Amino acid sequence: MTELTEIIRSDIQALTAYHVADLPQDFIKLDAMESPFHPFGRKEGLREEWLALMAEAPIHLYPNPATSGLQQALREAFSIPECAEIALGNGSDELIQLMTMLVAKPGAVMLAVEPSFVMYKHNAALYGMEYVGVPLNDDFTLNLEAVLAAVRQYQPALIFLAYPNNPTGLRFERKQVEAVIAAAKGIVVVDEAYGAFSDDSFLPQAGKIENLVVMRTISKIGFAGLRIGYAAGCPAIMRELAKIVPPYNMNQLSLATAKFAMKHADVIEETVVFLKAERERMQLEIAKLNRVKAFPSATNFITVRVPDALALFEKLKEHKILIKKLHGSHPLLDECVRITVGSREANDAVLTVMKGLYA
Ligand SMILES: *Cc1c(COP(=O)(O)O)cnc(C)c1O
Repeated sequence: MTELTEIIRSDIQALTAYHVADLPQDFIKLDAMESPFHPFGRKEGLREEWLALMAEAPIHLYPNPATSGLQQALREAFSIPECAEIALGNGSDELIQLMTMLVAKPGAVMLAVEPSFVMYKHNAALYGMEYVGVPLNDDFTLNLEAVLAAVRQYQPALIFLAYPNNPTGLRFERKQVEAVIAAAKGIVVVDEAYGAFSDDSFLPQAGKIENLVVMRTISKIGFAGLRIGYAAGCPAIMRELAKIVPPYNMNQLSLATAKFAMKHADVIEETVVFLKAERERMQLEIAKLNRVKAFPSATNFITVRVPDALALFEKLKEHKILIKKLHGSHPLLDECVRITVGSREANDAVLTVMKGLYA
């Protein structure tokens, strides 16, 4: 047999795998924007009702995401316009991949801002697209002039804008995003993974602007383990996308759980309201510290610049708390960490450590 290293793409061999932290049970995970609560654990009888549903789920049959009724449930729960068509993905990660596949002709360009969600650039590389990353301003706002200049110069087939942005937490100005959509001749994906924690959305425009696709996920609102994302846009794009969605890309248990969840949107909303209040409380407490700058956040995490990011990361680890070290991943993220907003106890534990370091 030929050496595998000769068969497997050398660009893939040069990659490093996406690192998922393997943690002891007693660690508090504040690194990946997971909800601290089981979504059906906070209301009497709900978990039992859900379990009964799971027992009935037809796991001996292939799932049919297209006719599962989940699209309709999402449309009603999140007021997605009738004119928009909805695609379901195995997490929005899969939709990022499929959107890339859709336009990845030789020489085609993907544009994103930096720092932003790392999977955009990763998929550009995997599917052979040219990638253009436009730096944000120092305060993580959008550099509209630079983005528009790059749009004119490179004519991207695909633009990803996370609204609000990860890993910075800011929501860009709506008018700026509108300007990018208007200037682009290609598709603009507005990634609203944190839409539930934000005060603005492009979902009402889905299906009404030809080159707009609004992408969302239920991962950050309590269902990271289900792997369900969705995208809404005009039929001209979504019907082509439908051709490359793997037919059985979501499983019966996830589909049934997500539909059940949409019927109980009130318990999801409760958690969102709680986390937003905790975010504001954390912001106020962090603002009292010395030598620490917390950036504004419209998400369920707070990005913070400290004198020594590694020291804070290690100190929290000693206290069995894992956060995300951003330092080193992009020049604009110098000495930054990203802290997911968790339970009150977890947030207090973080604040206690930070007060010890930066009093
Ligand atoms: C977390 C995240 C995603 C991925 O969400 P999944 O649905 O869990 O795959 C996509 N975009 C952004 C900006 C994210 O932060």
